Amino acid sequence: MDELVEPRAAQITYETETPVRTEIDGPVAWITMDRPKYNNAQNSQMTYALDDAFRRAVDDDAVKVIVLAGEGKHFSAGHDIGSPGRDVDKSFERRLLWADHTNKPAAEMLYTREQEVYLGMCRRWRDAPKPTIAAVQGACIAGGLMLAWVCDLIVASEDAYFQDPVVRMGIPGVEYFAHAFELPPRIAKEFLLLGERMSASRAQQFGMVNRVVPRENLRDEAAAMAAKLAAQPRLGLWLTKQAVNHVEELRGKRAAMDAQYHMHHFAHAQNDLVTGNTLAGMDAKGMAAANKEQDGEA
Ligand code: ZN
Repeated sequence: MDELVEPRAAQITYETETPVRTEIDGPVAWITMDRPKYNNAQNSQMTYALDDAFRRAVDDDAVKVIVLAGEGKHFSAGHDIGSPGRDVDKSFERRLLWADHTNKPAAEMLYTREQEVYLGMCRRWRDAPKPTIAAVQGACIAGGLMLAWVCDLIVASEDAYFQDPVVRMGIPGVEYFAHAFELPPRIAKEFLLLGERMSASRAQQFGMVNRVVPRENLRDEAAAMAAKLAAQPRLGLWLTKQAVNHVEELRGKRAAMDAQYHMHHFAHAQNDLVTGNTLAGMDAKGMAAANKEQDGEA
């Protein structure tokens, strides 16, 4: 019989019951990640709240455009790897047809979990039948990239920066591996291998972001873009985003992500075997300290 394990008793303290809030402003749903205390670190609680918010925005026929934003100084610090609300071991009602991860042994646990909460959810949001805009300020790091990249358009403030430093954990980039679609391959290699911050203006040079505006204009710019989108016909918007998404599929985006997903999980498993920790012992504090050291050296 296949082995199952006792789900680990999770020690979780949520600082909020509403990690995502939604405001409807005319035809625009503003979905805002709301854990500013932890720079909007994405735990499962937030992931499922985001999915609920996208679901409601898609179901509401009065909503024509969705804006994804982050409360506070930073858009997203990435996946939650260190707040008291880190809930990797917690079971949630799944939205895709995956099994529960909490009673699976060894590498099967994360492999199962991340199919749903990272790769699966991101693909689901990317395929939303309404246009989406990410409004990005401050840090957009690792898992945060995935949230910006699933949106159709990205408007960034001048202080925004993008970074995927997970190679430091021995992991070849975050789970939604769009890096080499968002950036030319050699730049994607630089971005990943060096793990450095990329400014909004440099990201714009490669077409990774659509517009860069002063911080104080970010919301207005996103609102202006959303208003223009809302004036377009609903089905035309859906068909058009699907047409471009299909071009990415013809270029192999989905297959590339599936291939990388297995490398990503080989790396998690290797970390666990060698260090006893799937992230090679790195947590939010460790990554921040290593970032500082790298910046100091540069
Ligand atoms: Zn992972």
